[in-house]
Amino acid sequence: MTSLATAADGRVTAWPGADNSGAWLTIDLGAIRDNYLALAAKVQGARCGAVVKADAYGLGATRVAPVLAAAGCRHFFVAHLAEGLGLKPCLPHGAEIFVLNGLMPGAEAECAANGIVPVLNDLRQVELWSAHAASLGRRLPAMIQIDTGMSRLGLPLGEIERLAADPKRMEGIDVRAIVSHLACSDEPGHPANVQQLAAFEARRRLLPPAPGCFANSGGIHLGPAYHFDIVRPGAALYGLSPVPGLPNPMKSVVRLDGRIIQVREIQAGDAVGYSYTFRADRPMRIATVAVGYADGWLRSHSNTGAAFFGDVALPFVGRISMDSATLDASAVPEGALGDGSPVELIGPHQSVDEVAAAAHTIGYEILTGLGARYSRRYIGD
Ligand SMILES: *Cc1c(COP(=O)(O)O)cnc(C)c1O
Repeated sequence: MTSLATAADGRVTAWPGADNSGAWLTIDLGAIRDNYLALAAKVQGARCGAVVKADAYGLGATRVAPVLAAAGCRHFFVAHLAEGLGLKPCLPHGAEIFVLNGLMPGAEAECAANGIVPVLNDLRQVELWSAHAASLGRRLPAMIQIDTGMSRLGLPLGEIERLAADPKRMEGIDVRAIVSHLACSDEPGHPANVQQLAAFEARRRLLPPAPGCFANSGGIHLGPAYHFDIVRPGAALYGLSPVPGLPNPMKSVVRLDGRIIQVREIQAGDAVGYSYTFRADRPMRIATVAVGYADGWLRSHSNTGAAFFGDVALPFVGRISMDSATLDASAVPEGALGDGSPVELIGPHQSVDEVAAAAHTIGYEILTGLGARYSRRYIGD
Protein backbone atom coordinates (compact mmCIF):
# COMPACT_ATOMS: atom_id res chain seq x y z
CA MET A 1 0.00 0.00 0.00
CA THR A 2 1.09 3.57 -0.64
CA SER A 3 2.59 5.30 2.37
CA LEU A 4 1.15 8.65 3.26
CA ALA A 5 2.09 11.57 5.45
CA THR A 6 0.03 11.61 8.64
CA ALA A 7 -0.14 13.65 11.81
CA ALA A 8 -0.02 12.09 15.28
CA ASP A 9 -3.84 11.74 15.28
CA GLY A 10 -3.73 9.74 12.04
CA ARG A 11 -4.88 12.66 9.91
CA VAL A 12 -3.64 12.63 6.34
CA THR A 13 -1.45 15.73 5.97
CA ALA A 14 -0.38 15.32 2.37
CA TRP A 15 -1.71 13.24 -0.44
CA PRO A 16 0.79 10.60 -1.55
CA GLY A 17 1.83 11.26 -5.14
CA ALA A 18 1.47 7.60 -6.09
CA ASP A 19 -2.10 7.35 -4.81
CA ASN A 20 -4.83 8.06 -7.29
CA SER A 21 -7.92 7.53 -5.17
CA GLY A 22 -10.37 10.20 -4.07
CA ALA A 23 -10.31 9.44 -0.36
CA TRP A 24 -8.51 7.51 2.35
CA LEU A 25 -10.42 5.33 4.76
CA THR A 26 -8.47 4.55 7.92
CA ILE A 27 -9.77 1.71 10.11
CA ASP A 28 -8.38 1.35 13.62
CA LEU A 29 -8.34 -2.36 14.45
CA GLY A 30 -6.94 -1.59 17.90
CA ALA A 31 -10.02 0.50 18.67
CA ILE A 32 -12.27 -2.38 17.57
CA ARG A 33 -10.36 -4.72 19.89
CA ASP A 34 -10.65 -2.24 22.78
CA ASN A 35 -14.38 -1.84 22.13
CA TYR A 36 -14.79 -5.63 22.18
CA LEU A 37 -12.90 -5.90 25.47
CA ALA A 38 -14.98 -3.07 27.00
CA LEU A 39 -18.25 -4.76 25.99
CA ALA A 40 -17.02 -8.16 27.20
CA ALA A 41 -16.12 -6.59 30.56
CA LYS A 42 -19.54 -4.96 30.77
CA VAL A 43 -21.40 -8.25 30.35
CA GLN A 44 -19.21 -10.29 32.69
CA GLY A 45 -20.90 -13.61 33.21
CA ALA A 46 -22.18 -13.64 29.64
CA ARG A 47 -20.07 -14.50 26.60
CA CYS A 48 -19.51 -11.63 24.20
CA GLY A 49 -19.92 -12.52 20.54
CA ALA A 50 -19.57 -10.20 17.55
CA VAL A 51 -21.79 -9.40 14.59
CA VAL A 52 -19.60 -9.23 11.48
CA LYS A 53 -22.34 -9.31 8.83
CA ALA A 54 -22.19 -6.99 5.82
CA ASP A 55 -18.39 -7.29 5.74
CA ALA A 56 -18.15 -6.21 9.39
CA TYR A 57 -20.40 -3.21 8.76
CA GLY A 58 -18.33 -2.25 5.74
CA LEU A 59 -14.98 -2.31 7.55
CA GLY A 60 -13.63 -5.62 6.21
CA ALA A 61 -14.68 -8.85 7.96
CA THR A 62 -11.54 -10.76 7.04
CA ARG A 63 -9.42 -8.07 8.77
CA VAL A 64 -11.75 -7.46 11.70
CA ALA A 65 -12.73 -11.02 12.69
CA PRO A 66 -9.19 -12.31 13.39
CA VAL A 67 -8.60 -9.31 15.69
CA LEU A 68 -11.80 -10.12 17.59
CA ALA A 69 -10.85 -13.80 17.77
CA ALA A 70 -7.46 -12.85 19.24
CA ALA A 71 -9.33 -10.77 21.84
CA GLY A 72 -11.27 -13.87 22.89
CA CYS A 73 -14.41 -13.77 20.74
CA ARG A 74 -15.74 -17.23 19.82
CA HIS A 75 -19.26 -16.41 18.52
CA PHE A 76 -19.36 -14.70 15.11
CA PHE A 77 -22.69 -13.72 13.58
CA VAL A 78 -23.22 -13.14 9.85
CA ALA A 79 -26.41 -12.61 7.85
CA HIS A 80 -25.87 -15.04 4.97
CA LEU A 81 -24.32 -18.48 4.61
CA ALA A 82 -22.12 -17.04 1.83
CA GLU A 83 -20.67 -14.53 4.32
CA GLY A 84 -19.99 -17.36 6.76
CA LEU A 85 -18.21 -19.46 4.16
CA GLY A 86 -15.97 -16.50 3.28
CA LEU A 87 -15.14 -15.89 6.92
CA LYS A 88 -14.46 -19.48 7.91
CA PRO A 89 -10.80 -19.64 6.76
CA CYS A 90 -9.98 -16.46 8.75
CA LEU A 91 -11.07 -17.84 12.11
CA PRO A 92 -9.18 -20.08 14.53
CA HIS A 93 -10.32 -23.55 15.56
CA GLY A 94 -13.04 -23.28 18.18
CA ALA A 95 -14.60 -20.10 16.81
CA GLU A 96 -18.14 -20.62 15.51
CA ILE A 97 -20.10 -18.82 12.81
CA PHE A 98 -23.86 -18.32 13.15
CA VAL A 99 -26.08 -17.39 10.20
CA LEU A 100 -28.77 -14.98 11.41
CA ASN A 101 -30.90 -15.04 8.26
CA GLY A 102 -31.61 -18.73 8.72
CA LEU A 103 -31.33 -21.98 6.81
CA MET A 104 -32.47 -21.84 3.20
CA PRO A 105 -33.87 -25.10 1.79
CA GLY A 106 -31.11 -26.88 -0.14
CA ALA A 107 -28.29 -25.29 1.90
CA GLU A 108 -28.28 -27.93 4.67
CA ALA A 109 -25.42 -30.03 3.27
CA GLU A 110 -23.07 -27.10 2.60
CA CYS A 111 -23.86 -25.55 5.97
CA ALA A 112 -23.21 -28.81 7.87
CA ALA A 113 -20.14 -29.79 5.85
CA ASN A 114 -18.50 -26.45 6.65
CA GLY A 115 -19.39 -26.53 10.33
CA ILE A 116 -21.47 -23.35 10.07
CA VAL A 117 -24.31 -23.00 12.53
CA PRO A 118 -27.70 -21.80 11.26
CA VAL A 119 -30.09 -19.69 13.30
CA LEU A 120 -33.34 -21.57 12.62
CA ASN A 121 -36.12 -19.07 12.08
CA ASP A 122 -39.24 -21.20 11.59
CA LEU A 123 -40.55 -24.72 12.19
CA ARG A 124 -39.79 -25.79 8.65
CA GLN A 125 -36.11 -24.89 9.12
CA VAL A 126 -36.08 -26.84 12.39
CA GLU A 127 -37.48 -29.86 10.55
CA LEU A 128 -35.01 -29.53 7.65
CA TRP A 129 -32.06 -29.40 10.03
CA SER A 130 -33.34 -32.28 12.14
CA ALA A 131 -33.86 -34.38 9.00
CA HIS A 132 -30.36 -33.54 7.79
CA ALA A 133 -28.90 -34.58 11.15
CA ALA A 134 -30.76 -37.89 10.85
CA SER A 135 -29.44 -38.42 7.32
CA LEU A 136 -25.86 -37.82 8.51
CA GLY A 137 -26.36 -39.94 11.62
CA ARG A 138 -24.94 -37.25 13.91
CA ARG A 139 -26.13 -34.29 15.93
CA LEU A 140 -25.96 -30.84 14.31
CA PRO A 141 -25.63 -27.50 16.14
CA ALA A 142 -28.13 -24.65 15.69
CA MET A 143 -29.55 -21.63 17.42
CA ILE A 144 -33.32 -21.23 17.38
CA GLN A 145 -34.73 -17.73 17.02
CA ILE A 146 -38.12 -16.86 18.51
CA ASP A 147 -40.07 -13.74 17.65
CA THR A 148 -40.79 -11.49 20.62
CA GLY A 149 -42.48 -8.63 18.82
CA MET A 150 -40.53 -7.52 15.80
CA SER A 151 -42.34 -9.74 13.24
CA ARG A 152 -39.19 -10.06 11.18
CA LEU A 153 -37.45 -13.38 11.83
CA GLY A 154 -37.97 -16.22 14.28
CA LEU A 155 -40.72 -18.61 15.34
CA PRO A 156 -44.00 -16.85 16.11
CA LEU A 157 -45.74 -17.85 19.34
CA GLY A 158 -47.92 -20.47 17.60
CA GLU A 159 -44.87 -22.29 16.23
CA ILE A 160 -43.09 -22.09 19.60
CA GLU A 161 -46.13 -23.77 21.18
CA ARG A 162 -46.17 -26.49 18.51
CA LEU A 163 -42.46 -27.12 19.06
CA ALA A 164 -42.98 -27.20 22.82
CA ALA A 165 -45.81 -29.73 22.43
CA ASP A 166 -43.67 -31.95 20.21
CA PRO A 167 -39.97 -31.53 21.10
CA LYS A 168 -39.15 -34.56 18.91
CA ARG A 169 -39.20 -32.08 16.01
CA MET A 170 -35.80 -30.94 17.37
CA GLU A 171 -34.35 -34.43 17.43
CA GLY A 172 -30.69 -34.47 16.43
CA ILE A 173 -30.33 -30.71 16.93
CA ASP A 174 -27.87 -29.48 19.50
CA VAL A 175 -29.56 -26.20 20.51
CA ARG A 176 -26.72 -23.77 21.27
CA ALA A 177 -29.02 -20.91 22.20
CA ILE A 178 -32.50 -19.47 21.97
CA VAL A 179 -32.24 -16.11 20.19
CA SER A 180 -34.45 -13.06 19.87
CA HIS A 181 -33.84 -9.49 18.75
CA LEU A 182 -34.82 -6.09 20.16
CA ALA A 183 -36.61 -3.63 17.88
CA CYS A 184 -36.14 -0.45 19.94
CA SER A 185 -32.91 -0.88 21.91
CA ASP A 186 -31.71 2.51 20.67
CA GLU A 187 -34.55 4.08 22.68
CA PRO A 188 -33.91 2.97 26.28
CA GLY A 189 -37.24 4.37 27.48
CA HIS A 190 -39.34 2.66 24.81
CA PRO A 191 -41.93 0.32 26.38
CA ALA A 192 -41.17 -2.35 23.73
CA ASN A 193 -37.88 -3.14 25.48
CA VAL A 194 -39.45 -4.44 28.71
CA GLN A 195 -42.29 -6.06 26.74
CA GLN A 196 -39.85 -7.95 24.52
CA LEU A 197 -37.76 -8.94 27.55
CA ALA A 198 -40.84 -10.38 29.27
CA ALA A 199 -41.90 -12.18 26.09
CA PHE A 200 -38.41 -13.62 25.65
CA GLU A 201 -38.35 -14.97 29.20
CA ALA A 202 -41.86 -16.45 28.96
CA ARG A 203 -41.50 -17.98 25.47
CA ARG A 204 -38.02 -19.37 26.12
CA ARG A 205 -39.41 -21.17 29.18
CA LEU A 206 -41.79 -23.14 26.93
CA LEU A 207 -38.83 -24.83 25.23
CA PRO A 208 -36.23 -27.24 26.64
CA PRO A 209 -33.54 -25.32 28.59
CA ALA A 210 -30.87 -23.69 26.40
CA PRO A 211 -28.66 -20.59 26.74
CA GLY A 212 -30.27 -17.24 25.90
CA CYS A 213 -28.90 -14.84 23.29
CA PHE A 214 -30.81 -11.55 23.20
CA ALA A 215 -28.82 -8.30 23.34
CA ASN A 216 -27.33 -6.29 20.47
CA SER A 217 -25.22 -3.18 21.22
CA GLY A 218 -28.17 -1.21 22.53
CA GLY A 219 -29.49 -4.19 24.49
CA ILE A 220 -26.18 -4.57 26.34
CA HIS A 221 -26.60 -1.00 27.58
CA LEU A 222 -30.18 -1.61 28.76
CA GLY A 223 -28.69 -3.49 31.71
CA PRO A 224 -27.79 -6.97 33.01
CA ALA A 225 -31.38 -8.27 32.75
CA TYR A 226 -30.92 -8.17 28.98
CA HIS A 227 -27.57 -9.99 28.82
CA PHE A 228 -28.54 -13.68 29.35
CA ASP A 229 -25.73 -16.05 28.25
CA ILE A 230 -24.40 -14.70 24.94
CA VAL A 231 -24.57 -11.10 23.68
CA ARG A 232 -24.09 -10.12 20.03
CA PRO A 233 -23.04 -6.49 19.51
CA GLY A 234 -22.22 -5.08 16.10
CA ALA A 235 -22.46 -1.29 15.91
CA ALA A 236 -20.73 -0.58 19.24
CA LEU A 237 -17.69 -2.62 18.18
CA TYR A 238 -17.32 -0.31 15.20
CA GLY A 239 -17.56 2.86 17.29
CA LEU A 240 -21.21 3.80 16.85
CA SER A 241 -22.89 5.04 20.00
CA PRO A 242 -25.05 2.41 21.71
CA VAL A 243 -26.54 5.05 24.05
CA PRO A 244 -28.05 7.80 21.90
CA GLY A 245 -28.15 11.14 23.65
CA LEU A 246 -25.37 10.24 26.11
CA PRO A 247 -21.60 10.58 25.62
CA ASN A 248 -20.45 7.69 23.41
CA PRO A 249 -18.53 5.19 25.60
CA MET A 250 -16.98 3.44 22.56
CA LYS A 251 -13.70 4.34 20.85
CA SER A 252 -14.01 5.74 17.35
CA VAL A 253 -12.78 3.34 14.69
CA VAL A 254 -13.07 5.08 11.33
CA ARG A 255 -11.65 8.17 9.77
CA LEU A 256 -12.19 9.35 6.23
CA ASP A 257 -10.05 11.95 4.49
CA GLY A 258 -11.19 13.24 1.11
CA ARG A 259 -9.00 14.84 -1.51
CA ILE A 260 -9.60 18.35 -2.84
CA ILE A 261 -9.44 18.28 -6.63
CA GLN A 262 -10.25 21.90 -7.51
CA VAL A 263 -10.61 25.29 -5.79
CA ARG A 264 -12.31 28.30 -7.39
CA GLU A 265 -13.63 31.78 -6.52
CA ILE A 266 -17.26 32.57 -7.37
CA GLN A 267 -19.28 35.79 -7.34
CA ALA A 268 -22.58 36.74 -5.71
CA GLY A 269 -25.36 35.24 -7.84
CA ASP A 270 -23.29 32.26 -9.11
CA ALA A 271 -24.86 28.82 -8.71
CA VAL A 272 -23.20 25.64 -7.41
CA GLY A 273 -23.87 22.06 -8.49
CA TYR A 274 -26.71 20.11 -10.11
CA SER A 275 -30.09 21.82 -10.27
CA TYR A 276 -28.54 25.05 -8.95
CA THR A 277 -29.82 24.26 -5.44
CA PHE A 278 -27.23 26.67 -3.99
CA ARG A 279 -26.62 30.21 -5.13
CA ALA A 280 -23.95 32.47 -3.62
CA ASP A 281 -25.16 35.68 -1.95
CA ARG A 282 -21.56 37.02 -1.77
CA PRO A 283 -18.15 36.24 -3.26
CA MET A 284 -17.15 32.74 -2.09
CA ARG A 285 -14.34 30.23 -2.38
CA ILE A 286 -15.62 26.79 -3.51
CA ALA A 287 -13.54 23.62 -3.08
CA THR A 288 -14.50 20.37 -4.81
CA VAL A 289 -13.75 17.15 -2.92
CA ALA A 290 -13.44 13.79 -4.72
CA VAL A 291 -16.15 11.95 -2.78
CA GLY A 292 -19.74 11.50 -3.94
CA TYR A 293 -22.79 9.36 -3.50
CA ALA A 294 -21.15 6.49 -5.41
CA ASP A 295 -18.72 6.39 -2.47
CA GLY A 296 -21.48 6.27 0.13
CA TRP A 297 -21.41 10.02 0.77
CA LEU A 298 -25.15 10.20 0.55
CA ARG A 299 -27.07 12.58 -1.69
CA SER A 300 -29.06 13.55 1.40
CA HIS A 301 -25.84 15.30 2.50
CA SER A 302 -26.57 18.00 -0.12
CA ASN A 303 -26.48 21.52 1.38
CA THR A 304 -25.97 20.15 4.92
CA GLY A 305 -23.05 19.19 7.16
CA ALA A 306 -19.39 20.04 6.61
CA ALA A 307 -15.89 18.75 5.99
CA PHE A 308 -12.96 20.01 8.08
CA PHE A 309 -9.67 21.53 7.01
CA GLY A 310 -7.70 21.56 10.23
CA ASP A 311 -10.22 22.99 12.70
CA VAL A 312 -12.08 25.00 10.05
CA ALA A 313 -15.52 23.73 9.04
CA LEU A 314 -16.19 23.79 5.28
CA PRO A 315 -19.99 23.47 4.81
CA PHE A 316 -21.32 21.35 1.95
CA VAL A 317 -23.04 23.59 -0.59
CA GLY A 318 -25.02 22.35 -3.57
CA ARG A 319 -25.99 18.80 -4.47
CA ILE A 320 -23.73 15.85 -3.75
CA SER A 321 -22.69 14.46 -7.16
CA MET A 322 -21.81 10.86 -7.97
CA ASP A 323 -18.04 11.35 -7.74
CA SER A 324 -17.58 14.72 -6.08
CA ALA A 325 -19.12 17.30 -3.78
CA THR A 326 -18.68 21.04 -3.28
CA LEU A 327 -17.61 22.83 -0.10
CA ASP A 328 -17.76 26.45 1.01
CA ALA A 329 -14.06 27.07 1.67
CA SER A 330 -14.42 30.85 2.13
CA ALA A 331 -13.16 30.61 5.73
CA VAL A 332 -9.82 29.14 4.63
CA PRO A 333 -7.17 31.76 3.73
CA GLU A 334 -6.43 32.05 0.03
CA GLY A 335 -3.81 29.55 -1.12
CA ALA A 336 -3.99 27.37 2.01
CA LEU A 337 -6.19 24.82 0.29
CA GLY A 338 -4.90 23.44 -2.99
CA ASP A 339 -5.38 20.55 -5.37
CA GLY A 340 -4.67 17.40 -3.39
CA SER A 341 -5.26 18.93 0.05
CA PRO A 342 -6.90 16.38 2.38
CA VAL A 343 -10.06 17.35 4.25
CA GLU A 344 -11.62 15.38 7.11
CA LEU A 345 -15.01 13.85 6.35
CA ILE A 346 -15.15 11.49 9.34
CA GLY A 347 -12.74 11.86 12.24
CA PRO A 348 -12.07 13.80 15.46
CA HIS A 349 -14.23 16.75 14.35
CA GLN A 350 -17.25 14.67 13.41
CA SER A 351 -18.16 11.10 14.29
CA VAL A 352 -19.97 8.65 12.01
CA ASP A 353 -23.11 9.27 14.09
CA GLU A 354 -22.85 13.03 13.52
CA VAL A 355 -22.30 12.59 9.79
CA ALA A 356 -25.35 10.31 9.74
CA ALA A 357 -27.47 12.86 11.59
CA ALA A 358 -26.52 15.56 9.07
CA ALA A 359 -27.59 13.23 6.23
CA HIS A 360 -30.86 12.29 8.00
CA THR A 361 -29.91 8.65 8.51
CA ILE A 362 -28.22 6.35 11.06
CA GLY A 363 -24.54 5.54 11.50
CA TYR A 364 -25.20 1.94 10.41
CA GLU A 365 -26.13 3.13 6.91
CA ILE A 366 -23.08 5.40 6.65
CA LEU A 367 -20.68 2.64 7.78
CA THR A 368 -22.10 -0.12 5.59
CA GLY A 369 -22.13 2.24 2.60
CA LEU A 370 -18.47 3.29 2.87
CA GLY A 371 -17.12 3.24 -0.64
CA ALA A 372 -15.26 0.52 -2.42
CA ARG A 373 -13.23 3.18 -4.27
CA TYR A 374 -11.46 4.49 -1.18
CA SER A 375 -7.86 3.61 -0.45
CA ARG A 376 -7.99 1.65 2.77
CA ARG A 377 -5.49 1.62 5.56
CA TYR A 378 -5.67 -0.58 8.66
CA ILE A 379 -3.88 0.61 11.78
CA GLY A 380 -3.55 -0.59 15.38
CA ASP A 381 -3.36 -4.34 14.75
C1 LIG B 1 -27.46 -6.68 13.07
C2 LIG B 1 -27.94 -7.52 14.21
C3 LIG B 1 -27.31 -7.43 15.47
C4 LIG B 1 -26.28 -6.38 15.81
O1 LIG B 1 -26.96 -5.20 16.17
P1 LIG B 1 -26.17 -3.86 16.60
O2 LIG B 1 -27.26 -2.89 16.87
O3 LIG B 1 -25.34 -3.48 15.44
O4 LIG B 1 -25.36 -4.20 17.79
C5 LIG B 1 -27.68 -8.33 16.44
N1 LIG B 1 -28.66 -9.25 16.21
C6 LIG B 1 -29.31 -9.32 15.03
C7 LIG B 1 -30.37 -10.33 14.85
C8 LIG B 1 -28.99 -8.45 14.00
O5 LIG B 1 -29.66 -8.51 12.84
